[in-house]
Amino acid sequence: MGISKSDAIIIVGGGAFGLSTALHLSQKGYTNISVFEKDDNIPPRFSAANDLNKIVRAEYEDPFYTDLTIKAIAAWKTPLFAPHFHQTGFLHCVSGAAPEKAVDTLNRFQASAEKHPDIKPHVVPLENEKDVRQACWQLDGELTGWHGYLNRYDGYAHSGNALAAIYRATQAAGVRFFLGAQGAVSEVVYASTLTGRKCAGIRTKNGRFHPSALVIVAAGAGAGRLVPEIGTSIVAKSWSVAHVQLTDEETSALRGIPVTYARDLGFFFEPDPKTNLLKLCPMGGGYINTDPKTGVSHAPETLSESAFLPEADEKQLRQLLAQTLPSLANRPFVRNSLCWFADTNNSDFIVDYIPNMAESIILLSGDSGHGFKMFPIVGSFITDLLESPDNRQSITRWRWKQPSSDAGKEDWGGDVSWRLGQSKEFASILPSKASKL
Ligand SMILES: Cc1cc2nc3c(=O)[nH]c(=O)nc-3n(C[C@H](O)[C@H](O)[C@H](O)COP(=O)(O)OP(=O)(O)OC[C@H]3O[C@@H](n4cnc5c(N)ncnc54)[C@H](O)[C@@H]3O)c2cc1C
Repeated sequence: MGISKSDAIIIVGGGAFGLSTALHLSQKGYTNISVFEKDDNIPPRFSAANDLNKIVRAEYEDPFYTDLTIKAIAAWKTPLFAPHFHQTGFLHCVSGAAPEKAVDTLNRFQASAEKHPDIKPHVVPLENEKDVRQACWQLDGELTGWHGYLNRYDGYAHSGNALAAIYRATQAAGVRFFLGAQGAVSEVVYASTLTGRKCAGIRTKNGRFHPSALVIVAAGAGAGRLVPEIGTSIVAKSWSVAHVQLTDEETSALRGIPVTYARDLGFFFEPDPKTNLLKLCPMGGGYINTDPKTGVSHAPETLSESAFLPEADEKQLRQLLAQTLPSLANRPFVRNSLCWFADTNNSDFIVDYIPNMAESIILLSGDSGHGFKMFPIVGSFITDLLESPDNRQSITRWRWKQPSSDAGKEDWGGDVSWRLGQSKEFASILPSKASKL
């Protein structure tokens, strides 16, 4: 029996996947939707998408995600999303010091872009430093050995502003929001039925039970705590984010630059004209926070624990700036943090019912650090699942992932083709406590 349009639906998480789901459900005529978010504000500080910007690039090594992003980019250009999408281009390179793995990955991305009929006309190959400089004159560093391509089909989205816009739109459409103490979900509540078990609703940290016909867990890096059955199939992982504070003139001079990405170093974006912040991220295997008892990685509970930039990442970002924008290479980095997301071993999302619960609970997770570009269309993955005639996820790669019996022994990071380097344990990179002297 499917869910009816007036049944109570609870979405846990007011981040990218949760808000998009609320939007698509309301557009499809579902009338009883509530979003529970543990922060007291949207965009939530815990959301991986609460950020100045995220890359929106269409070319993937895997044509399935290329085609999906082309759909997403078309949706980014519709009135609700267009103010937050900036098609500045994507300057995708390696430096002369890049290891073979980074060069191979770049080549696969370039081949994918050059093969696709919609993307191909926008791609400009960049053979050397001179070509790179011609593609973006503002990059006045040495760019030693840099080569790759510029893809003008791509760009970035102002993710924090996009979340705020969809929050307003869904509120206006009648979606209810429970935030802060009212919205922090402590557990999913299950009940016995004649044939087994099903989800009955959720309980919030203030002790209140909220019944519902369907719960959709879209809790990002927090999914594993609410759906422990997923085990090591979802790994809470983080990457660093840092910013350089610019002057009005510096921001103005960098207006319109493409997202600039060296696969072996990291990337930065056009500065934000409101705050004059230039955001940077290093590329690497990221950081996990494994519970030694279970082998499962969870995000730390507080934001303050993640408010720093690991030394190695700082070094990498300074190299990136020295190569591209040398006048900024020694500036202080501000608003540093580790940003947590939900990783899977093959970077595929999970969009499926939790098995044997009578289609009463869905897990929407496994964004794997590349999900924001799908923000305008993620919710349609859920409405498609709800409309599936046999209640099965027809996209095999998005089905529930049974955790492997090798829990805790997997190699998280090195095996994923588009990332460079191994994941490190969060505990091993924590800054040493300030001296008491
Ligand atoms: C450093 C970094 C860079 C990235 N760059 C890109 C990029 O360039 N391009 C791209 O496409 N994607 C990028 N991503 C990925 C993108 O941010 C994610 O794919 C996207 O945010 C996933 O959305 P989500 O809703 O699953 O999780 P989130 O956006 O993290 O939202 C989850 C929400 O659930 C809430 N929550 C958790 N537990 C509970 C609970 N118990 N009760 C109530 N609420 C709860 C949290 O507070 C949070 O608001 C990046 C991610 C990181 C970390």
